[in-house]
Amino acid sequence: LIVPDFGLLAREIDATYEELRDERGGAVADYIPQLARTDPDSFGIAVCTVDGQRHLAGDARTMFCVQSVSKTVGYCLALEEHGIDGTHQHVGREPSGLGFNEVTFNQQGLPHNPMINAGAIISASLIRPGEPLSDRYEHVERTWQRLAGGRRPGFSNSVYLSERATADRNFALGYLMRERGAFPEGTDLREALEFYFQCCSVEVDADMLAMVAATFANGGICPLTGDRVFGPDTVQHCQSLMMSCGMYDFSGEFAFSIGLPAKSGVSGALMIVVPQVMGIAVWSPRLDSQGNTVRGIEFCKRLVERYVVHPHDAA
Ligand code: GLN
Repeated sequence: LIVPDFGLLAREIDATYEELRDERGGAVADYIPQLARTDPDSFGIAVCTVDGQRHLAGDARTMFCVQSVSKTVGYCLALEEHGIDGTHQHVGREPSGLGFNEVTFNQQGLPHNPMINAGAIISASLIRPGEPLSDRYEHVERTWQRLAGGRRPGFSNSVYLSERATADRNFALGYLMRERGAFPEGTDLREALEFYFQCCSVEVDADMLAMVAATFANGGICPLTGDRVFGPDTVQHCQSLMMSCGMYDFSGEFAFSIGLPAKSGVSGALMIVVPQVMGIAVWSPRLDSQGNTVRGIEFCKRLVERYVVHPHDAA
């Protein structure tokens, strides 16, 4: 067993969950109107080890939108289809040092990386570009399902419609990228944006997201089904960018103090990979000023205090 005393880990998770329930700092994202309707007190934690041991705490079976966590899956799908060079011809791989929706491009006129909005819109445009939108969405949905051990994800049409109706910033990013020639040839801008919003509106619960993270931790093979969803190189590249860019402009501090690949979303979702050991998901909608879940960040701090998970832990 990869975590010999899983019962102890489970009890520690429960204790941390209880401690953090009183944490009410931060605010639910409201720039996507529908997201503002989420119950701010929602709080779920889930863990899945690479050998399939699982534990849930709190609202771990309530569905929420993945939002920016979808940037991981989108990037992996682009890599699997176009390889590293084919993908990075359209998007960089340096941190931007700025917020997720900042209007900024690198010296080549490309988005800084696939973990911010501009870069994720590019990833979306690279996923089976020749196929009808319906088939492309099915491919994304099916990938989430395989990553999550076979459970089918949901889709929030109201969040999708709400985001699409209020997406001036993402449209602005799209137009600027088109002007700079960042998209693959033949990209329909409106379609690329709508597909990106749909990818953000995929719904999972913390239990599923922990299994997704565990599939990453396990090098791309789902621990529950043995299904190889992504190749090892894809997982490596994605985790490298989660490490350097996954937590918006908190990424440097997160890499310093936590040291794990992770990706957050404005729904309050957080996916954390402990490579070769386990996947963890935290969902709690109140966000800090950088857009990361307050309780999720606090959970990570306590995790590194209690367990040797920081890869540079020399104690
Ligand atoms: N769909 C959201 C957007 O494009 C995702 C942002 C996020 O989760 N940080 O604004």
